[in-house]
Amino acid sequence: MTGVINQLAHIVQTVALADQPIDQVNLVVESISTNMSVDVCSLYLANARGEMLLLASHGLAGDAVRKVRIPPGKGLVGLVASSRHPVNLADAESHPAFYYIAETEEERFHSFCGVPLVHTGKVIGVLVVQGRDIRQFSGEEQGFLVTLAAHLALLLANSPLASEEPDLGEGRVSGIRGAPGIGIGFSRLCDNGELYAVSNAPCHDTAQALRDWHDLLAAVRSDIEQEQQAIAGDLSDSVAGIFSAYTMLLADPAFLGHVEKGILDGNWLPGSLRQAIQHFAELFRAMDDPYLKARHEDIHHIGNKLYNAWRGIRPEAMPAGRRIILVGAQVSVSEIAAAPAGMLEGIVCLEGSSLSHTAVLANALGIPAVMGAGMIRNLGNDTLLIVDGDTGQVIVNPAPPVLAEYRKLGDDQRFLMERLEQIREFPAVTTDGTEITLYTNTGLLADISPGLRNGAQGVGLYRTEIPFMIRNSFPSEEEQVAVYRQVLSAYEGRPVHMRTLDIGGDKQLPYFPVENEENPALGWRGIRFTLDNSQLLMTQVRAMIRAAEGLDNLRILLPMVSSTGELDDFRGLLDDALIQLRAEGHTAQRPALGVMVEVPAAISQIPFWAGKIDFVSIGSNDLSQYLLALDRNNPRVAARYDHVHPAVLLEIRRILQLAAEHRIPVSLCGEMASDPVAVLLLLGLGLRTLSMSATKIPRIKWLIRSVPVSTAQQLALEACACTYPAEIRSRVETALESAGLGELLNRNTAADRGSAKPRPA
Ligand code: PEP
Ligand code: MG
Repeated sequence: MTGVINQLAHIVQTVALADQPIDQVNLVVESISTNMSVDVCSLYLANARGEMLLLASHGLAGDAVRKVRIPPGKGLVGLVASSRHPVNLADAESHPAFYYIAETEEERFHSFCGVPLVHTGKVIGVLVVQGRDIRQFSGEEQGFLVTLAAHLALLLANSPLASEEPDLGEGRVSGIRGAPGIGIGFSRLCDNGELYAVSNAPCHDTAQALRDWHDLLAAVRSDIEQEQQAIAGDLSDSVAGIFSAYTMLLADPAFLGHVEKGILDGNWLPGSLRQAIQHFAELFRAMDDPYLKARHEDIHHIGNKLYNAWRGIRPEAMPAGRRIILVGAQVSVSEIAAAPAGMLEGIVCLEGSSLSHTAVLANALGIPAVMGAGMIRNLGNDTLLIVDGDTGQVIVNPAPPVLAEYRKLGDDQRFLMERLEQIREFPAVTTDGTEITLYTNTGLLADISPGLRNGAQGVGLYRTEIPFMIRNSFPSEEEQVAVYRQVLSAYEGRPVHMRTLDIGGDKQLPYFPVENEENPALGWRGIRFTLDNSQLLMTQVRAMIRAAEGLDNLRILLPMVSSTGELDDFRGLLDDALIQLRAEGHTAQRPALGVMVEVPAAISQIPFWAGKIDFVSIGSNDLSQYLLALDRNNPRVAARYDHVHPAVLLEIRRILQLAAEHRIPVSLCGEMASDPVAVLLLLGLGLRTLSMSATKIPRIKWLIRSVPVSTAQQLALEACACTYPAEIRSRVETALESAGLGELLNRNTAADRGSAKPRPA
């Protein structure tokens, strides 16, 4: 058996490498039966009805596979599942729970050992070995199966194998919500060449390849300009940022240099382009922060665009007069631009995340989108599809009643959107007259315009890490001034809260990774990192102050502050920066200074900071993470992460009380600010300034304009006395529904709440 135990890692690795899920399960049963020398090894997975479907077997009759379904609780397999405990028997037939299934022809076997596969507390399958002899499996063999089952549960969780959806006719495919709304139309496949499939090849004429590269750049730049005009129309403000991000990459000396170096080193143009694109995309993909990670998709998109332009491929003209749903591994901006005006009903990306530029663009254009939908079987052009961007589902060939239901839902939503549009210019005031300030969170230049369009009263959080991450080295002061100036001037007359570099933890700089930390979330991150690298902080602060010259709307926000010493050190550095800049002839204004309350230790120290800061901003993502000791980016604990947790609410109440006693203004810029349930509670607790991603502003404004603060106060009072997060949610949801605001809940499902940041569910 020792040999078998040594095989465990090998089995798990082999199975994980199999391409298709069905190959995985067949490999499982084959390798276990070989390694354990047993006559039978079978894997059962639970289907939607809770039956155990025999998915693969070595040893049982082949005809039984995918046919035998054991009802819940029935037989020894049912016993393993219901008890969540191994069942190890020398002679299975003599056990009272034994249940004979003729198709399996298992009467030949006596010994039986079954162990459950459990994922997130639920039994998802049962792994069984059987033998001809009457003998109990050893403790070591049972332990081996238990260990293997724990690994397999991770691999097979959410496996589509147990679902018995028909191949033809109506089918549902689940993905990730990319942009809200319901779209109904006919599929149009976008199948362009894939740059990542290009290999290296020798370049025979380097000079010509360099000329081709420059021509290609010029052609693609001009295409982008045309597409921008075609797409944007009167929305040009809201989508311009996406195009400028593409244009910026096409002008980035680091990127251009990388391609040129590839050519000069003897690789042909497409190979050099692939290397450069992959290099830059990988820098982003390696990041833990889902928002930044998603940028790799944008780089991949622009790579494919360049490659297809090099091949002379242009998006096909689409038939006029037909409502279209674009479907592709990725759907590019060019394809969106090529759709006839007013006919694009939806977008389905088989790959990609809710934070990619395709999703950002779909949001800006108001086109429902589903991302990461995986393979859709048998899908050709002109198949009727429903894109449900609210739940992240695609319905293929919907049945007439389903279609009718979705049509009605779509109409209701259009009505809601019209109402949201009507209040865009109105203030966020509750029905009993309390004014709430709504800011936007931004990070990329691409996000600036949507904030303005949605009526943001300023920027509540500008995440400066992003301009640092899209480079090969620390940006110079001049480069930073240029980027910050764009944001500050776009919001002239309105405050912009710029946060100093918040790297470390889940946000890494490709050229300066903070590595080898046992506990990165508790390590060298945020203000701790920048104070230890004060040369970087000095450059950044100087750049911020210079960028705000003549605008005077800069407010500096410090991340991850946990002690007064950090604040003192920063204030000293800020004084120095002002002295230096004034000596250099700049009209440097002292910006307002605030701290993020995201480390629980900051809360008790608010009174100590009264004379030192001008405001605080609650970073509820990190605050919840640290209060609950739950990693905000770990999908294994995502279901436990809920910012509407009594511990979080009570601490926010304490922050508000302490800040009020010391007359320090408070805002909140984490994801709580865009969750309607949390917003109602925050208003009730006394918060009056919220910052959220731009697209969430209209809905939150609608909520605010529909309720009196007195209702929110009553709910907050009740919530603070509740024991369970779910109880708090259900009370507030009931209140929202009875106020006629049930529609707001659709877009903040459990998947949203599980994540501290927008990210793939
Ligand atoms: C937060 O922690 O709530 C926050 C807004 O900061 P970030 O999500 O960038 O860590
Ligand atoms: Mg934070």
